[in-house]
Amino acid sequence: MDYESFFKSQIDGLRREGRYRVFADLERRVGEFPTASFFPEPDSPARDVTVWCSNDYLGMGQNPVVIGSMIESLHKCGAGAGGTRNISGTNHYHVLLEKELADLHRKEAALLFTSGYISNEATLSTLPRLLPDCVVFSDALNHASMIEGIRHSGAKKHIWRHNDVEHLDELLSRYPKNQPKLVAFESVYSMDGDIAPIAEICDVADKHGAMTYLDEVHAVGMYGKRGAGVAERDGVMDRLTVIEGTLGKAFGVMGGYITGSEALVDCVRSFASSFIFTTSLAPVLAAGALASVRFLKEHDELRQKHQERARRLKTLLASAGLPVMPSVSHIVPVLVGDPRLCKQASDDLLTRHNIYVQPINYPTVPRGTERLRITPTPFHDDARMEHLVEALLDVWSRLEIKRLAA
Ligand SMILES: *Cc1c(COP(=O)(O)O)cnc(C)c1O
Repeated sequence: MDYESFFKSQIDGLRREGRYRVFADLERRVGEFPTASFFPEPDSPARDVTVWCSNDYLGMGQNPVVIGSMIESLHKCGAGAGGTRNISGTNHYHVLLEKELADLHRKEAALLFTSGYISNEATLSTLPRLLPDCVVFSDALNHASMIEGIRHSGAKKHIWRHNDVEHLDELLSRYPKNQPKLVAFESVYSMDGDIAPIAEICDVADKHGAMTYLDEVHAVGMYGKRGAGVAERDGVMDRLTVIEGTLGKAFGVMGGYITGSEALVDCVRSFASSFIFTTSLAPVLAAGALASVRFLKEHDELRQKHQERARRLKTLLASAGLPVMPSVSHIVPVLVGDPRLCKQASDDLLTRHNIYVQPINYPTVPRGTERLRITPTPFHDDARMEHLVEALLDVWSRLEIKRLAA
């Protein structure tokens, strides 16, 4: 077997389809977000670009309180945790952060992971595996980390049509009420910006005796009075069995977590391989996340400003005739509908206008719905928005991309 040419041919296939991934080489600069240095080549001089696709939704990655706490903990505890949680790697910051997160979501307990991806994979592979004959019901647009976790559990799975509560009801009703069931879904879906009807999903789950697992990755820090997510905003946090989140998006640092009852969290802690057999989060990350969670609990005005910026951008794009997709959240997707055009639009924005928006192609979104996913933050002011709209209009006419949403 000629392994090398096999690997190359795989990559050639991606290139032909226009969905070969190129990472933008950036250097973020504290105090200047969302401006960053972009390196076209590793050795070439950098130039300034405006980042329009960061998941650091509230700019917490450069928040002075967060940075201050990270510097302090770095000098206090050093670089790494020095072990797994079980073998010398539980740092006091981990314990404090878990307490803080449990309080944020009003749950008995929380458990930290090295990323949101791992928290989904670990929990969704462990719980259905432990429960006898558990059946998992997964929303059709669930994130890859949830899909992988469910797959690894080995449990029987049904996929319910995205946000379709009646379909979920119908699937659940095929099983006796006393058979263990788990309903897994997200609050804010990050590629379309729509939001799940959490209360209705909980109603249906309760009716059939199912547990609920909610991924609030694109909502924590940003929704609810204290930043606990959409379930807090909707007043339904207590109805969810597990709430999962990330520390890497709006909280601006890194790591993931689940919250739930003492016994459930203890089970994941005790049985999940990807929690047990890995070095724990560096103390400096836990300290930064702790400062960030505490900060955002107290700063609802940042959330207000974030929502205002997103509304403003949607209005500007729509009045310019650009095909902004319907979104009820802070996410602003603009439809291109073709992978090569989408990549070209992104390249042109970068080279001609110093605007960075990564193209979103299959398999992240369905074929034919390729898009630019724009994420305004409280730091994207009117001037930057006007510049963005002009740049998009230029690119849209040059590439003859459709104006009206399909
Ligand atoms: C990004 C993402 C994750 C993974 O979180 P990380 O902390 O980045 O690993 C999980 N779920 C959803 C819906 C996501 O978009």
